[in-house]
Amino acid sequence: MPYKLSGKKLIIQVPSQFFYEWLEDNYVELLRKALDYSIGPDGQLEYSIVVDRGDKANNRPPKSVNTANNKLQDPKKNFYNQEPKKVTSPFEMRDLNALQNDSFLNRSYSFDNFIEGDCNRLARAASYAVAEKPSVTSFNPLMIYGGVGLGKTHLVQAIGNFIKNNSQSEKFVLYVSSEKFTSQFINSIKNNSLQDFMSFYMQVDVLIIDDVQFLSGKEKTQETFFHIFNHLHQSGKQIVMTSDRPPRDLDGMEDRLLSRFKWGLTADLQNPDLETRIAIIQKKLQTEGVDIDFEVIEYLAHSIDSNVRELEGVMISLIAQASLTQKVIDLELAKRTLNHIVTESAKEINIDSIISVVTEHFQVRIADLKSKSRLRSIVIPRQTAMYLAKELTNLSLKSIGYHFGGRDHSTVIHAIQTINDLMDIDKEMNSTVTKLRHKFKKK
Ligand code: ADP
Ligand code: MG
Repeated sequence: MPYKLSGKKLIIQVPSQFFYEWLEDNYVELLRKALDYSIGPDGQLEYSIVVDRGDKANNRPPKSVNTANNKLQDPKKNFYNQEPKKVTSPFEMRDLNALQNDSFLNRSYSFDNFIEGDCNRLARAASYAVAEKPSVTSFNPLMIYGGVGLGKTHLVQAIGNFIKNNSQSEKFVLYVSSEKFTSQFINSIKNNSLQDFMSFYMQVDVLIIDDVQFLSGKEKTQETFFHIFNHLHQSGKQIVMTSDRPPRDLDGMEDRLLSRFKWGLTADLQNPDLETRIAIIQKKLQTEGVDIDFEVIEYLAHSIDSNVRELEGVMISLIAQASLTQKVIDLELAKRTLNHIVTESAKEINIDSIISVVTEHFQVRIADLKSKSRLRSIVIPRQTAMYLAKELTNLSLKSIGYHFGGRDHSTVIHAIQTINDLMDIDKEMNSTVTKLRHKFKKK
């Protein structure tokens, strides 16, 4: 809370060192902007850490945020020189703490904009149940796991947002990444504020901790988390976690912690299937108020099958491209954008590059590969391209077929089989495929 404005110096009062760090970790940029805006670029910020209620203000000027050099001075330096402070009953923080209402949730993640599909049905349903009745269901803890960009953070943030928006009694919901949890823990040790750290976390009603795989191998952090976990669980508080792998594969995690993870429910997120990908694209377009032809949507859904984050990345850059160039998003623009993104990230393997390498080698036209032609001089290049697409990309048979004139997956299987057989009996075919394969970067 703002405490005093003296000259160009704004002093804000915080209830503990921990909160000071919390602010610093999360709001430095926002605070800087606010200072620039309201006081000017030479505005300074000071924290006053009030440990006791009442007038025994323990003023610390641990940090001045000064844009003149835009470099933040090391706050720790000052901390080390501080006298150890008195800690009041940590539970008083609750009343004192203006930050308590901040859950570090991103409002844009909701259940409404989370597309449901076979790939995420259980995880979504369990999350929704927890959101409706935190700590009442047997899903405590709730553990959501799955690969990158599949919606773990989205889902658990949706839980937090839902609870904040809907629960009758006010709940202290807190979202934290495991990395942040770890660094807060380490800082609290350095700064002698472990007590604050622990008691802060023990007051949480709904603790959402993201990417717990980062706790692997961090014994002390795990131990602390274990205590917090137990305390919360015993007090009937809800714990939600995510991980990029199932608990059984979390190496470097203490057994007693792992066994706690199994108390509740573990649900996974799978790669989105084609229908879900299409729905996600459509939702994104709708949110952005952009309208594009279904053929473009289909093309995108068939071309990016790895994860939703990538899908969104392509959509965003496509929408940006279109608005920059004032063009409509058509198939051509979609292809160009996709190629551009793919080459930029140095993964040159994609369906279009495969088709172009193959057509160049066999001296046929792209249109021929996609045509109905059954001429051997066309069929072999077409089958070779399909074979390479299967080998080099993660595309499904269905998606590969789509890129070759909308052929079905059995045609693709047949093509792969044919090339396989040919390679066995025909040395030249074998060397052709090998040669073509080498034109692509290794994955
Ligand atoms: P993770 O935490 O698993 O790495 P995120 O939750 O950050 O993945 O998701 C990556 C992006 O994809 C986010 O922008 C998210 O909103 C979006 N996303 C993921 N799954 C879905 C879904 N089922 N519906 C809508 N958007 C999704
Ligand atoms: Mg995440």
